[in-house]
Amino acid sequence: MTQLYQTVVYQALIDQLLQQLGVTTALQQHCQLPLQVEAVDLVGAGPDIFGRHQSMTPDTLSRWQAMSAAAADAGVILQLVSAFRSVDYQCQLIRNKLDRGQCLQDIVKVSALPGYSEHHTGRALDLTTPGSEPLAETFELTAAFAWLQVNARDFDFAMSYPRDNTFGISYEPWHWFCRQG
Ligand SMILES: [Zn+2]
Repeated sequence: MTQLYQTVVYQALIDQLLQQLGVTTALQQHCQLPLQVEAVDLVGAGPDIFGRHQSMTPDTLSRWQAMSAAAADAGVILQLVSAFRSVDYQCQLIRNKLDRGQCLQDIVKVSALPGYSEHHTGRALDLTTPGSEPLAETFELTAAFAWLQVNARDFDFAMSYPRDNTFGISYEPWHWFCRQG
């Protein structure tokens, strides 16, 4: 199978899932995120702050371990909130929000549609630090965020969704992507 063929098949599968969720073509086109292929090569990364088992690509894991160790040396504690998420998981997450009465237009401002989350690649990490509410914008006020802004690039991590990003996604100071994962 060629890469192009695989991409076409994957896109068709994603389109079908989105249709089942009730996502209109217009809404899908409005979202500016690129398609993200689900990772196959994953390794365990231990528990997150909620005790859930997390996984990521091997290269992301080694960079994450080096980065969190360097942060600890500087007196900064970095903790994992979320790493790899499957397309199925992302579908369930959206379904749960729909069940709670949220509308798709609002959901897509904060959650990527299935197939479009960087977490599918196993290279995106949501981070927090003790005393900070997970996945809250106030993470930008922490010493951990200040440390990441200066040092994350040395470990090949970059913030994917800065303020006023072109993807139409809310500012996510906690979401870091491993460029060499
Ligand atoms: Zn994230």
